[in-house]
Amino acid sequence: MPDDIARPQHTSPFTRSLLAPNAGPMTLDGTNSYLIGAPDSRSIVVVDPGPLDEGHLAALAATRHVELVLITHRHPDHTAASVRFAELTGAPVRAFDPAFCVNGDPLIDGELLEAAGTRIRVVHTPGHTDDSVCLHLPGDGPTGSVLTGDTVLGRGTSIIDGTLADYLASLEALRALGPATVLPAHGPVLPDLTAICHAYLAHRHERLDQVRAALATLGSDATVDQITDVVYAQTDAAVRFAAEASVRAQLAYLRGAD
Ligand SMILES: [Zn+2]
Repeated sequence: MPDDIARPQHTSPFTRSLLAPNAGPMTLDGTNSYLIGAPDSRSIVVVDPGPLDEGHLAALAATRHVELVLITHRHPDHTAASVRFAELTGAPVRAFDPAFCVNGDPLIDGELLEAAGTRIRVVHTPGHTDDSVCLHLPGDGPTGSVLTGDTVLGRGTSIIDGTLADYLASLEALRALGPATVLPAHGPVLPDLTAICHAYLAHRHERLDQVRAALATLGSDATVDQITDVVYAQTDAAVRFAAEASVRAQLAYLRGAD
């Protein structure tokens, strides 16, 4: 491979990642595209080819034969390159939402994929989006690993573009997978899925308490804008819309739970 093509970094015994050049307020350093394959496998599975960047796609395709492409969820920083990457590699692209599949079938919750010398269990984890999935590799090192997409990030917290009730249930389901290595779509690798899910759940319940307190002060007809001003007072203007989306999801959750 020529010297000017980026090389994937080892992230676990069965995975490597390659950072796409799309850093921003919502993508942290950029999208981590993952390559899954047993060390002796001649082929790989690529997860989230990412934004449409020819250099990034060429670097992913230049490693080993790509037999399958998987998508963690529908957001464009994960899916914009899907059609182009399918063209480049001839590999089918599979996602939970049929609209994001290319020459492949939709993923099913609980489905076991055998590819590139590994076993990959599909876990449907709605909440960040309705179509989010995590990919569990039980044989990847002593604790296994989980590619978490945007459901669990390497730092900070995920936004809720689905429902909070779904998201909390997904975090509980992930926590039950044990202390697996966390391979997030943004940010660094983390050592312990159970610990991070525990922290995420605590954070969400703390935010819910803050929204409850804001409602008690402002009145139960307080607007999303007013609550965001109180609960997310420290939030940068660039991600204000994400904070508002979180407040909207929390209000829907609290009103649904009445
Ligand atoms: Zn996303």
